[in-house]
Amino acid sequence: MNKRTFLKACSAVLTSRVLSPLLTWSSKDKLTNWAGNIEYGTEKLYSAKSVKDVQDFVRNRNKLKVLGTHHCFNTIADSNSEFLSLKPMDQVVNLDANAKTVTIESGLSYGQLCPHLDREGWALHNLASLPHISVAGACSTATHGSGEKNGNLATAVSALEMVNANGDLVKLTRSQDGEAFRAAVVGLGAMGVITKLTLDIQPRFMMKQYVYQDLPMNELKENFDAIESAAYSVSLFTDWREKRINEVWLKIRMPEQPVFDAPAEFFGAKRATRNLHPIIELSAENCTEQMGVPGPWYDRLPHFRMGFMPSAGKELQTEYFVPRHNAIDAILAIARLHNQTSPHLLITEIRTIAADDLWMSPCYKQSSVTIHFTWKPDWPAVRRLLPVIEKELSPFHGRPHWAKLFTISPADIHSRYERLPEFIEACKKYDPHGKFRNEFLNRNIFS
Ligand SMILES: Cc1cc2nc3c(=O)[nH]c(=O)nc-3n(C[C@H](O)[C@H](O)[C@H](O)COP(=O)(O)OP(=O)(O)OC[C@H]3O[C@@H](n4cnc5c(N)ncnc54)[C@H](O)[C@@H]3O)c2cc1C
Repeated sequence: MNKRTFLKACSAVLTSRVLSPLLTWSSKDKLTNWAGNIEYGTEKLYSAKSVKDVQDFVRNRNKLKVLGTHHCFNTIADSNSEFLSLKPMDQVVNLDANAKTVTIESGLSYGQLCPHLDREGWALHNLASLPHISVAGACSTATHGSGEKNGNLATAVSALEMVNANGDLVKLTRSQDGEAFRAAVVGLGAMGVITKLTLDIQPRFMMKQYVYQDLPMNELKENFDAIESAAYSVSLFTDWREKRINEVWLKIRMPEQPVFDAPAEFFGAKRATRNLHPIIELSAENCTEQMGVPGPWYDRLPHFRMGFMPSAGKELQTEYFVPRHNAIDAILAIARLHNQTSPHLLITEIRTIAADDLWMSPCYKQSSVTIHFTWKPDWPAVRRLLPVIEKELSPFHGRPHWAKLFTISPADIHSRYERLPEFIEACKKYDPHGKFRNEFLNRNIFS
């Protein structure tokens, strides 16, 4: 199934009878993830309109997976049995100005939530590169944006409600359920069906975005800390050719302190004279406004605009988290591979993320730098390259993004997540017989 067909199918969920099969796909029109590189193991996709629908569905199944907005590049969301979509459950349940929280149903995407929050005078602390993804799917996989002081998106979760494998409702809060809560927030879809999430909010703010071109790699090496702390959120894009960062995206929170007066030159890079796409050949129409034009937080933190194709479309993605203090060594190690990577690469993005305390977050107790690869859609070539990259990053114990492609062994994953044994125990408490597990989880987590 291509992207257009899937979007049509998703809107059909809204009108389909509750818990009836959404659509039956013909064998030529398979259900796939967003990128189209994964053909899911079943075409049985059901929709729920209420918590009771979710409970009934879960009680009557031995196996199922929840499908969010299907943006993962690997098989973490895949199922050989049945999918449940909560897309019709897309309401904002409560905005509590005193507690500074918003409670939402878990079918909601950031693209739906953020304009609503902004209209009410509120904001989230950070966003990913695109607003198209579901909040529950993003938090379940530790999706992140950038910013030295910004935790990943799941760090905004202060409470969650989920349906466990028995069909019972479980509520966990940050303030009262410590360990169980920290296990469940980045739950990898393994603990239960999340039906509601409560997120921390803060007063709405404005931002402006500047892009600089051609920052010499040597300048990055000498001034990494200054560059990364120059704005609320910083993204570095490189194709690893010509020893440079092609584009530096500075997302500045207003009112800025100290004032960023957008000099013509930034560590040897030149201020762009027009809006740019991270892949410079592509149209910047898909991208959020740059050139220092002020705009609301939700229209500057993502790189890509709602309603437009994010990124390149035909692509694969990989990303690794390394400790912040290894940033330069890790970046230079990957730079040395440029002859091998560049022919298959569309673009690399480098970002920073603050440490957190969520057990399965790649930033657990570790301020991190991420090195991301948007690849041309040639899986055999990428499949050959990933072990080479992973070997280079192994001295830094690189942790792979849960939603992207990797070949790191389950043993290495286990050695890089100190709370993984307790995470498995927590999963068994809520799902003793592995109702929510699939081949990805069995291999990487439960093996
Ligand atoms: C173009 C593009 C750009 C991206 N940019 C970024 C980025 O900037 N930063 C970043 O970190 N990642 C990025 N990603 C990755 C993306 O954030 C993750 O794939 C994220 O998981 C997408 O959410 P989803 O709802 O589409 O997930 P899905 O693929 O639908 O599901 C992901 C997992 O969450 C589980 N899940 C979903 N909903 C629920 C629920 N209600 N209850 C329990 N489990 C649930 C699923 O079972 C599955 O295990 C990008 C992906 C794409 C395609």
